[in-house]
Amino acid sequence: MKGNFPVEKFQTLRTPFYYYDTDLLRQTLDAIRREVNKHEAYHVHYAVKANANPKLLRIIREAGLGADCVSGGEIEACVKAGFPGSKIVYAGVGKSDWEINLGLDRDIFCFNVESIPELEVINQLAQAKGKVARVAFRLNPNVGAHTHANITTGLAENKFGIAMRDMVPVMEHARRLSNVQVVGLHFHIGSQILDMGDFEALCNRINELQAELERHRMTVEHINVGGGLGIDYEHPNRVPVPDFKAYFDTYSKKLRLRPGQTLHFELGRAVVAQCGSLVTRTLYIKEGAVKKFAIVDAGFTDLIRPALYQAYHKIENITSDLPMVAYDVVGPICESTDVFAKQTDLNTTRRGDLLAIRSAGAYGEIMASQYNCRQLPVGYTSDEL
Ligand SMILES: *Cc1c(COP(=O)(O)O)cnc(C)c1O
Repeated sequence: MKGNFPVEKFQTLRTPFYYYDTDLLRQTLDAIRREVNKHEAYHVHYAVKANANPKLLRIIREAGLGADCVSGGEIEACVKAGFPGSKIVYAGVGKSDWEINLGLDRDIFCFNVESIPELEVINQLAQAKGKVARVAFRLNPNVGAHTHANITTGLAENKFGIAMRDMVPVMEHARRLSNVQVVGLHFHIGSQILDMGDFEALCNRINELQAELERHRMTVEHINVGGGLGIDYEHPNRVPVPDFKAYFDTYSKKLRLRPGQTLHFELGRAVVAQCGSLVTRTLYIKEGAVKKFAIVDAGFTDLIRPALYQAYHKIENITSDLPMVAYDVVGPICESTDVFAKQTDLNTTRRGDLLAIRSAGAYGEIMASQYNCRQLPVGYTSDEL
């Protein structure tokens, strides 16, 4: 089974390019809304770093999601796309002064703070503006995620967050500062997580931490559990929408919220990954000594996940119905890691055929570079084609 693509229209476009199926994006957002509407206290912020294409940001904003930013540039992109400051959260280990000032000027919902020195700078900058910054502490819960080592973030060895044992001292420290108000606790354990047990472990940890806060007569208005829900890269056609029910049910069963507390989520990949494909044209078929190579005009400059994380993406030849043959699908960049797939089965492929590299909506276009003086890929939506 292959995906549905407007191949005729594709023939008129310069390759490579990203193609976003906005019907699927809207279906995915509907599925999220259906689950979230069951819980009054739940709020979802889209993690903008997965894909900041302005056309997608608008659709996501229209669906009512807030935004989770990790840079001043992302805050600017969100403001442009119409997100109100009150729905923007801002995380990151290294926030520059101009980025903090931008967040203060936009009266964002919350700064997710990752160290005491950062807290002090936010306090100073807020004071200079006569404002009180709303902050949450990002705690490192030392919970592993069964995912690629490069995308686990919640282990004690990772650079992210504040150690759990420092939670109470840090809260006490913040109390003495006049221009910050602690409103939440923030966590994020990693990405492409498919084992609900990992999120369950996070819930158990948060329950312990909240009990400890209570012993010190402290509470927070909200808990933010980050993102990380994975998608099915093997079966983009069979499983186009992630299992949001299992995800939100895990939190509703395992996490004990205090009365009046809200629960915030920061989903990135699960929102946008399946709606995007990288479309590339086959330049040459090379018969190597031991295998066939399909050399295409997209490279890791357009989609770096396979080179960076050994990530798997399903590839389909969307212009051939000939018998299946195994190819290494490789790009033109002068690096041996510029390989999209090894020995993957495609319909017999010839020069000029279009290939769709599937599930590329997250951490695809946004991570593109101009290495080798290449042009950045354009992103088209199904709405506009
Ligand atoms: C990257 C990131 C997310 C989103 O992760 P996904 O795996 O794309 O859902 C959420 N929160 C924070 C703090 C992040 O760094």
